[in-house]
Amino acid sequence: MCGIFGVHGVPEATNCVHLGLYSLQHRGQESSGVVTVDEHGTARALRAMGLVSEGIDGRSLSELPGDVGIGHTRYSTAGTSTIENAQPVLARFRDGHIALAHNGNLVNATELRRELEDVGSIFSSTMDSEVLVHRIAKSRREKPEERLADALQGVEGAFSLLVIIGDTLMAARDPRGWRPLVIGRLADGWVVASETCALDLVGATFERDVERGEIITIDRDGIRSTFPFEAHDPRRCVFEYVYFARPDSRIWGGSVDRARRELGRQLAREQPAPNADLVFAVPDSANSAAVGYAEESGLPFELALIRNHYVGRTFIQPSQAGRDAKVKVKYNAVREVLNGKRVVMVDDSIVRGTTTRGLVALVRAAGAREVHMRVSSHPITGPCYYGIDTPSREELIAANLGVEDIARHIGVDSLGYLSLDGMLGAVPGGPDGFCHACFSGDYPTPPPADPNKLRFGCGC
Ligand code: AMP
Repeated sequence: MCGIFGVHGVPEATNCVHLGLYSLQHRGQESSGVVTVDEHGTARALRAMGLVSEGIDGRSLSELPGDVGIGHTRYSTAGTSTIENAQPVLARFRDGHIALAHNGNLVNATELRRELEDVGSIFSSTMDSEVLVHRIAKSRREKPEERLADALQGVEGAFSLLVIIGDTLMAARDPRGWRPLVIGRLADGWVVASETCALDLVGATFERDVERGEIITIDRDGIRSTFPFEAHDPRRCVFEYVYFARPDSRIWGGSVDRARRELGRQLAREQPAPNADLVFAVPDSANSAAVGYAEESGLPFELALIRNHYVGRTFIQPSQAGRDAKVKVKYNAVREVLNGKRVVMVDDSIVRGTTTRGLVALVRAAGAREVHMRVSSHPITGPCYYGIDTPSREELIAANLGVEDIARHIGVDSLGYLSLDGMLGAVPGGPDGFCHACFSGDYPTPPPADPNKLRFGCGC
């Protein structure tokens, strides 16, 4: 998953993009980058590993002048975490430069890449997104938006994209619309971002969503829109509402906070815990759902788990002992809240069950008498091919164990998930129009020929 942010007609674009990326950090922490285009049409890039605050400093940014720019925060779903795979991509071709920032995952990238390699194309990264740059460069169409539309014909899967050709900024969403993308105004300029929280940070006003299947083009003449793709039914990713997007964002016309609260309320109706004393969240992604559960059940909401916000994703230890240590470094339990209590622990999802098992151990060690876990989504039984980094079936606990066995494995007294219908009915605009493939097995496209994240090599 990734965060993308772009501006056109915004003085000192680089500073605005840099700021915008801070609020999209939750969508990707592996690398970040900015590309700007100056008044002479020169494009420059800055990319770095790690968090925006770690990798991009003000002095380097001052070397990226211009009022047009795009940025990216990366969380890999195709290719490894290396600087070659950091975005935005910036490439030069016969008609100038192409800069591209991609959120989503292409399901036919293997075939598209093979086609290009067969005619001699070489690649400098192991990302699926690089095929798009080649296809844009190869197109014989004149206008930037026609060139982009041409390049995207036959590309299957999820893309919310920002592309710069010359000093024209384009924003595109695939026709099923898996990932969000919004447009805002900032003085006389335009801002495009994965989520509205990024518009808020830079002081832009929300204008509208980029529609699914739409290409928006912004140049010195203004803004225009085309719908060049074959129509498909909408398949917005329900997991954006469940886990991924920030609760202070509005995506697809709905508030993420309200969506999560409603998921929590529905969970309380479907999976009550009548004898419990209190409810708490696994912070931060389950906070709003736990508030909803507390509101609906009438149980008090407490802060029983504290998350350390200064632990980066770089703290990785593969051994089991290492995983337990990882949970302890990231979370601690509040004994004064938990001791002697029958508690409801709300989380938004269980993936492998590893973190959850460690958290339950912490909660018990802090004196909880009974632990009733409630999950504000349906069990995840399949991988995502459209941009969320869910592991293979072998690693997904709910693909291998039933609810009772999962409860035993993670060490809780009871475990309750939200039903599929309950989940889809609780989100804004539901129940139709969502992709729920990882929960239901109902995949909107054939699976990729090679779903392995490292299908184009390890990149190292
Ligand atoms: P685990 O118990 O190891 O399955 O971890 C469960 C936690 O992972 C939950 O708190 C979720 O909020 C979180 N989570 C869900 N999806 C993802 C994801 N794609 N990447 C990272 N964490 C996730």
